[in-house]
Amino acid sequence: MGYDLERFVGYVNEGLLCCVCRDVLEDPLQAPCEHAFCSSCINSWLVHHHSCPEDRQPLEGALLRPLFRYMRNDLSRLQIRCRNREQGCEMVCSLESVERHERECEYSLVACTNTGCPLQVERRSLQAHLSTCEFRSRECPHGCGYTILSCEDAQHSCVAELRTELELLRSEMICKMEEVRHEMESRLDSQRRHMVQKESLLKSEVEELKGQLSRVMSDVRALLGAERLHRQELEQAELEKRELLELLKSLQREGRAPGTAPAQAPPPATEGLRRPASGAHGLTLDCMKRKSREVTVI
Ligand SMILES: [Zn+2]
Ligand SMILES: [Zn+2]
Ligand SMILES: [Zn+2]
Ligand SMILES: [Zn+2]
Ligand SMILES: [Zn+2]
Repeated sequence: MGYDLERFVGYVNEGLLCCVCRDVLEDPLQAPCEHAFCSSCINSWLVHHHSCPEDRQPLEGALLRPLFRYMRNDLSRLQIRCRNREQGCEMVCSLESVERHERECEYSLVACTNTGCPLQVERRSLQAHLSTCEFRSRECPHGCGYTILSCEDAQHSCVAELRTELELLRSEMICKMEEVRHEMESRLDSQRRHMVQKESLLKSEVEELKGQLSRVMSDVRALLGAERLHRQELEQAELEKRELLELLKSLQREGRAPGTAPAQAPPPATEGLRRPASGAHGLTLDCMKRKSREVTVI
């Protein structure tokens, strides 16, 4: 949309008017047929048409060009009133500088800077508004540390605020403690389970070791029994050996006395000695005794 023709001071050449909105060109573009339009006007026209709105010659967006330089110069030199004229701004300036003026115009509406305030006030009265705005805030003068909006000033009670805060903190703390307790319990639980597992493992190991120990003990007992038996047999053999030696000596004595060959006697004696200590010994001994008697008879 172009600038309202009413805002201009003095004569405006008809060539500087938009062929669509009939106002003074804003961001102008020009068709090959030299008709000129505001860029927003011609772009929305071309959505539904494919021709110049003035003479119906074929037209596409790609064919649009900037306005001739001399026309741009004419445009920018036009004198225009500030859009806040109705609010009281008397400013008249060139079209090229009107935007800058309006950005800073004291009569432009600006939003109040206090959070939550919905009001828009003229820039020149913003300071006055801020000092009375219901959404201005200040720190509580009684030292509770709260920032109070001026609309809440009357209801503010330090004690009540602090009590609410305390309640909030308390419930937060309870919540946190509950969380910590929960976590500790679950950790303990898992440790307990772990310990129980370990205990049963150790128990079965102990049982195993007990079994091994009892097996070893019975082996030892068997070995001790065998050793005792062995020792008894050894003693028995020793006894028999001594007996045989006695016998041998007596045989030798008897053999030497009548003057016969003594060499006959020893071999059976040694043979007897070499034999393992066993039940057979009794037999051998009897046999020896018999022989010795035979020798004596001879
Ligand atoms: Zn226009
Ligand atoms: Zn045209
Ligand atoms: Zn102004
Ligand atoms: Zn305000
Ligand atoms: Zn307070």
